[in-house]
Amino acid sequence: MKDYQQFRQQTRDWLEAHCPPSQRQPVIEAEQIWAGRDQYFHNNEARQYFEAMRDRGWTAPDWPAEYGGGGLDETECKILNQEMARLNCRPPLYDMGIWMLGPALLAYGNEQQKRQHLPRIIRGEVRWAQGYSEPAAGSDLASLKTKAEDCGDHFLVNGTKIWTTKADCADWIFCLVRTDPDAAKQAGISFLLIDMHSEGVSTAPIKLISGASSFCQTFFDNVKVPKEQLVGELNQGWAVAKELLKHERKLMSSMSAMVENEQESIAELAKKHTAVDAAGRLTDGSLRRDITRHLMNQGAQDLLNERLYHQARAGAVDPRLGMTIKHIGTAELQRKDELLLEILGNRGLSWENPSTSENEHTIVKNWAYDKAHTIAGGTSEIQLNIIAKRALGLPG
Ligand SMILES: Cc1cc2nc3c(=O)[nH]c(=O)nc-3n(C[C@H](O)[C@H](O)[C@H](O)COP(=O)(O)OP(=O)(O)OC[C@H]3O[C@@H](n4cnc5c(N)ncnc54)[C@H](O)[C@@H]3O)c2cc1C
Repeated sequence: MKDYQQFRQQTRDWLEAHCPPSQRQPVIEAEQIWAGRDQYFHNNEARQYFEAMRDRGWTAPDWPAEYGGGGLDETECKILNQEMARLNCRPPLYDMGIWMLGPALLAYGNEQQKRQHLPRIIRGEVRWAQGYSEPAAGSDLASLKTKAEDCGDHFLVNGTKIWTTKADCADWIFCLVRTDPDAAKQAGISFLLIDMHSEGVSTAPIKLISGASSFCQTFFDNVKVPKEQLVGELNQGWAVAKELLKHERKLMSSMSAMVENEQESIAELAKKHTAVDAAGRLTDGSLRRDITRHLMNQGAQDLLNERLYHQARAGAVDPRLGMTIKHIGTAELQRKDELLLEILGNRGLSWENPSTSENEHTIVKNWAYDKAHTIAGGTSEIQLNIIAKRALGLPG
């Protein structure tokens, strides 16, 4: 029987010793620690914190220790998360490998693939991009056309992927490709890992309205991919794709809770920017009601996550919960963004105004950016279709 109380105390002491002050601040985009060949640390403390977490396997705390992960069980992971939240520790590493590919490889990769890729993901040495969407295959992902032809010891890949986030900075990309053009849609798809430095791979940035671009279109022109990089069975990539999407959606549903730690609480902000009575209560009744409603929804969502966690521990996950959680989490996040903007009033009209604060600029930027969460990883309309059909059993 493990002594979880002792684990909590040791974790607390260790984090106190290894998480320096600058890594206990709300994280801003420019200071996030991303994986990859050009890994950037904004200061020495960031590097030290990352290296300490990495060496303990706590960039991937629940992955097996044999691949360099933390080897923690679910209770220990939860304790680690709680202790990190208590100190306001920043996430030690950002990467699609950590969030999505790793869990899919643990479920579907062979031993050689796990040994080749997992340790490098955990150590932040490789940055991964996601190659799912295509110009004519977004919501209807299974109609994708990028093809991989069997050429003996390798596949020859031709086609294009779109909305590939930060593919220009990535070292590797996980891709869905068509390997059997004659099979029914989902049946002819395989899951391939492609080195971005392979001959024939190129990217072009997609310019956004804000001027900055995190998106690329990625092109594959006669790219040779060794057969060892096929994950799962040939033509069975749809199962791997779905496993990975489960983790992407879980990540997105938790965005709202993650952002909560990064800002002043809504109630504090409202007290700062709107009128309060002698007892310190907000005088605007409808604002009070909306904040209360949001906090209750947020609380209910936390309970839902908790329930999912306990179901997972008991090995009895209700799939309907998994389906709904992304939609609920991202919709609430957007409601919260609207509320924050309402509280800021005309201070929320710009993210460049020198007379408003950095925190206020962040709120406005989040309001604009979080609109993406009801699109990325499967749009809300598609999620609602899935819930209607599979969770509620409604007719198509
Ligand atoms: C921030 C962000 C990051 C992303 N990063 C990546 C990435 O790294 N890699 C990657 O591969 N992709 C990425 N994507 C792409 C994302 O997966 C797609 O945008 C998403 O799947 C929707 O596809 P689409 O854009 O082609 O829209 P479409 O599928 O063309 O949908 C357009 C609209 O029609 C609606 N619609 C479509 N079909 C139906 C239906 N049957 N019933 C009801 N409504 C429907 C949709 O809900 C949507 O509102 C990213 C997207 C965003 C926003």
